[in-house]
Amino acid sequence: MKPPPFEYHAPRELGEALRVLAEVRGKVLAGGQSLIPMLNMRLAAPEHLVDINRVASLSALEAGERGVRVGALVRHAEAERAGVHPLVTRALKLVAHPVIRNRGTVVGSLVHADPAAELPAVLALLGGHVRVARWDGGRITERDVSAPDFFTGPMESAVEPGELAVSAFFPAPAPGSGTAFEEVSRRHGDYALAGVCAVVTVDDEGVSAARVACAGVGPVPLVVDLGGEDDWAAAAARVRDAAEPEGDIHATAAYRRHLVGVLAERALRNAAREGAAARGA
Ligand SMILES: Cc1cc2nc3c(=O)[nH]c(=O)nc-3n(C[C@H](O)[C@H](O)[C@H](O)COP(=O)(O)OP(=O)(O)OC[C@H]3O[C@@H](n4cnc5c(N)ncnc54)[C@H](O)[C@@H]3O)c2cc1C
Repeated sequence: MKPPPFEYHAPRELGEALRVLAEVRGKVLAGGQSLIPMLNMRLAAPEHLVDINRVASLSALEAGERGVRVGALVRHAEAERAGVHPLVTRALKLVAHPVIRNRGTVVGSLVHADPAAELPAVLALLGGHVRVARWDGGRITERDVSAPDFFTGPMESAVEPGELAVSAFFPAPAPGSGTAFEEVSRRHGDYALAGVCAVVTVDDEGVSAARVACAGVGPVPLVVDLGGEDDWAAAAARVRDAAEPEGDIHATAAYRRHLVGVLAERALRNAAREGAAARGA
């Protein structure tokens, strides 16, 4: 199928992209791995597409001690190869297929906000943010939106018409932390039926902090802070109770609830093992 007609804009500078977006309120085209199928299936019919692929300043990937900032044109594959954040790298290996990861962008995945997607869960777990820009009064203005405010519903984010998400920041886990990402999908590369990422921090006394974020069991990533809990079966029961999964043709709600408990326990155990090893190293 072909997409409905649209006017195509290909700005070369960030300011130009934002001016066009402010004027036409069109859809941003990044990797196109979700947007183009949606256009072809006529699930979206924007009058204007603003292709950001020529805006070179959006390609930066900056890693520091505090974490990693990923520009809006950094592809999944590029971030995966850079390997600059243990949990982001783990999550990226689970996103779709290599061909899709060669074009799809990290920031595009966040804005697309699919409830079953991996990267929104990672951003929520780590307490990261998305930097959003707009053209306002003849200049660029920016705001940082933290993960809990960014994901507003299934396939909905805080990016408003006329705005562009310019980068995302994924904080580094605290020293002595291990991370894990566990998921189940029906076929390799499909969106997961449910997924759980975890970060566990270990100190001299044992587990000092444990936290999980779940994908596929609610309209937005579900974050459960488990404090210093180190009984992983009890922790998994808390996660199961907090989940609000829905049933669909792929899995019943009851199955997803069971699955999220199993995955949470597995992710917490693996993250704790890695955290303990990191301390010993
Ligand atoms: C077969 C298949 C399997 C997939 N499996 C998975 C999976 O397992 N896990 C997963 O997470 N994803 C999966 N995806 C989705 C894939 O990861 C997409 O690439 C990603 O969701 C969107 O990134 P993109 O750069 O392609 O965005 P696009 O398709 O270009 O855009 C998607 C949406 O986000 C908006 N947008 C994108 N970037 C910006 C920006 N910088 N500012 C404002 N708005 C923006 C667009 O306007 C559009 O509404 C799959 C896709 C396919 C086709």
